Amino acid sequence: MTSETRNSIDDIWGERTPHGPGQDWPVRVDERVSETPEHWVRGTCVLCSNGCGLDIAVKAGRIVGVRGLATDVTNHGRLGPKGLHGWEANNSPDRLTRPLIRKDGQLQEASWDEAMDLIVQKSKAIIERRTSLGIGFYTSGQLFLEEYYTLGVIGKAGLGTPHMDGNTRLCTATAAAALKVSFGSDGQPGGYEDLDTTDCVMHVGHNIASQQTVLWSRILDRLAGPHPPKVIVIDPRRTFTAEHATVHLTPRVGTNVAVLNGLLHLIIQAGKIDPEFLQAHTVGYDELKKTVERYTPEYVEELSGVPAADLRRAGEILANTRTLVSTVLQGVYQSMQATAAAVQVNNIHLIRGLIGKPGSGILQMNGQPTAQNTREAGADGDLPGFRNWGNPEHIQQLATLWNVPFNKIPHWSPPTHAMQIWRYAEQGSIEMMWIQATNPAVSLPELSRIRTILQKEELFVVVQDAFLTETAQLADVVLPAALWGEKTGTFTNVSRTVHISCKAVEPPGEARSDLDIFLDYARRMDFRDQDGQPLIKWNEPEGAFEAWKKCTRGRPCDYTALSYEKLLAGSGIPWPVNAEHPDGTVRLYTDFVFPTSADYAETYGHDLETGAAVTAEEYKANDPNGRAMIKAAEHREPHEVPDEQYPLWLTTGRQVYHFHTRTKTGRSKELQDAAPDAFVQISTQDAERYGIENDDWIQVESRRGLVIERALIGNIEPGLVFIPWHYGSWDDPSRPRAANELTITEWDPVSKQPHFKYAAVKISKYDARDAIPQPGLLGQAVKAVQHLVSGEISSRSPGSKAQGPQPKTSQRVEG
Ligand code: SF4
Repeated sequence: MTSETRNSIDDIWGERTPHGPGQDWPVRVDERVSETPEHWVRGTCVLCSNGCGLDIAVKAGRIVGVRGLATDVTNHGRLGPKGLHGWEANNSPDRLTRPLIRKDGQLQEASWDEAMDLIVQKSKAIIERRTSLGIGFYTSGQLFLEEYYTLGVIGKAGLGTPHMDGNTRLCTATAAAALKVSFGSDGQPGGYEDLDTTDCVMHVGHNIASQQTVLWSRILDRLAGPHPPKVIVIDPRRTFTAEHATVHLTPRVGTNVAVLNGLLHLIIQAGKIDPEFLQAHTVGYDELKKTVERYTPEYVEELSGVPAADLRRAGEILANTRTLVSTVLQGVYQSMQATAAAVQVNNIHLIRGLIGKPGSGILQMNGQPTAQNTREAGADGDLPGFRNWGNPEHIQQLATLWNVPFNKIPHWSPPTHAMQIWRYAEQGSIEMMWIQATNPAVSLPELSRIRTILQKEELFVVVQDAFLTETAQLADVVLPAALWGEKTGTFTNVSRTVHISCKAVEPPGEARSDLDIFLDYARRMDFRDQDGQPLIKWNEPEGAFEAWKKCTRGRPCDYTALSYEKLLAGSGIPWPVNAEHPDGTVRLYTDFVFPTSADYAETYGHDLETGAAVTAEEYKANDPNGRAMIKAAEHREPHEVPDEQYPLWLTTGRQVYHFHTRTKTGRSKELQDAAPDAFVQISTQDAERYGIENDDWIQVESRRGLVIERALIGNIEPGLVFIPWHYGSWDDPSRPRAANELTITEWDPVSKQPHFKYAAVKISKYDARDAIPQPGLLGQAVKAVQHLVSGEISSRSPGSKAQGPQPKTSQRVEG
């Protein structure tokens, strides 16, 4: 008997609680429980990067619901549809409960000893044969800080491999890169609180209404109150967010830099720069001014299709607003010139001096809930504590902290980014790939290639997950992992706010927390420091957190004055939290001093166009020494453009009811019923041109693969097609439907983030009587594991006979 304070499926953002500039955002506590709880345990939502505080309802050792935390600075009690429903995945009957090992081509149940011994035996054999460079890790944006840090130490000081990155390369690498380029270090300059007072919000390639629903509620409440902010939206689709825009700019895909250069041009032309700020606190303005000079509204219209008049309206708002909050996400990060475009957003703030002040902030958003921690703790291509791999003093700090030799820590070249790790696995120099809490068989570009890599005989694949995902189905060893609510740890949201999430129930069967799995591996590998002591000196989450605190001392993400006790007191706390700021820091750079000095910066930077690294000598020769860096970029065409054979642009994105590849949200009945299937969105004009009607089946084909989806017509620019990328094969093997069958293997030269937002495709009406093409090797591979999973999964596996597209079910989508 479910009880809920509101129906978040029908009313995504809930009732308005208007507030004016400077007034507190009113509290509204959202709750949904399936049974009366026996007790509540403190948690935090892990289904987007917003990090909403909540309590977990528990009855008879099971999670039975959630309730928003009224005292939390992030959400003031609110929860969105994913938060209110996503916990149901914990109770799903198809959770993995025992390790699996592939024997005779099939995954078979095994003990933990057997599984871990096999992983250790393979690791040692590979190290013996070709050093630790034969081992790669592909981690997640969904583990906890304590887990990332432990993994980071294992990789960097235990094994000494540079091949460690996460799926955060697909979602937030550009956020980190853009912050480093402009300010010298990762870390969001502003906080969510800036939305409560700002006069203007600009969303660039960010459909915030769908992706961070609670943060959008905060903006909707400002829009409903006195003195609402103006809203500028840059997005080629008419999204939920765009419906509330004062000005909505709809650029052709791949033209973000052109549009942003046009806005910079208009601000400079209007004489609305802040010359004192530029002179005292930045470098590089003259180059920017010269670069954007030719980006007149008419030229920008030619390049991007954005009408000159619309650009002028947006430019006028940006030139005159007294305060500004900008948010940026995948429409920028996963598109052409990702870092260059994200940096131009930073530049708008810098030339106007709108940073480090109440109401003015930049949120280079994250996609996943704990992506910030992957970056902070060194489980991606960065070093822990935002250290610079090119700075020997930073390497020495870590060597001293971990008590390992300086040269054990890989720093002879840049850390290997995810796309290169997969390439090494393809070529054979990486022989073991350990994947945690992510599903690259659905989320990486060009899926037929990824499946081929995962199925290579010579590649030993370990997958650590709570479910038998499309990726786990192709593994050699599968380790059953605990989910949120079944383990304790911390994580940091976009607003730098650290939250704790506690263990409320036991994991099912023999499933273990990711931290316990890493600790077990470290023990079995017998990693030691220089004194012969165990390298990993902690055995539980709080010990890992205390160790991490030491690693952050003196760095921008300083956690030294944080504790589990403080985090349990009623709200998340934004870092830095140290002796100087014991209660946290809402806003960075209030003194206009940026972490750019050569001895402190996280990177020496890159050329925005080529990605070429700036050397330490070059950087030191022009040391910005505390000043922000303004870097200009020219517009460049995407690497693949429509032609006669493939005449349309494809772009991909997310839906409000789902997270990532639906391993969790797809197991909540109401979320799944609200958005049961993928679709292809096309314009009215293209629908007429191809003779397509709503709900017709369409085949979409690129040079790399094809999918078959239902048509959804309208609210998109002509020439563009959109497909949500959440949908793989685990619950519908009847047709190829993963958007990444079509996407391209290309990436940004600076952030190395793949390009999911453009590809050339063709479409045609699909005749249901045609044979349904199967997606590459997937069907064949999954046959091997069918016997393992009874009932639900096996009957849905891609190896089962193709039934053809099923009848349409209700679908709530934008537009
Ligand atoms: S906005 Fe994000 S963090 Fe908050 S409840 Fe929704 S999914 Fe969870």
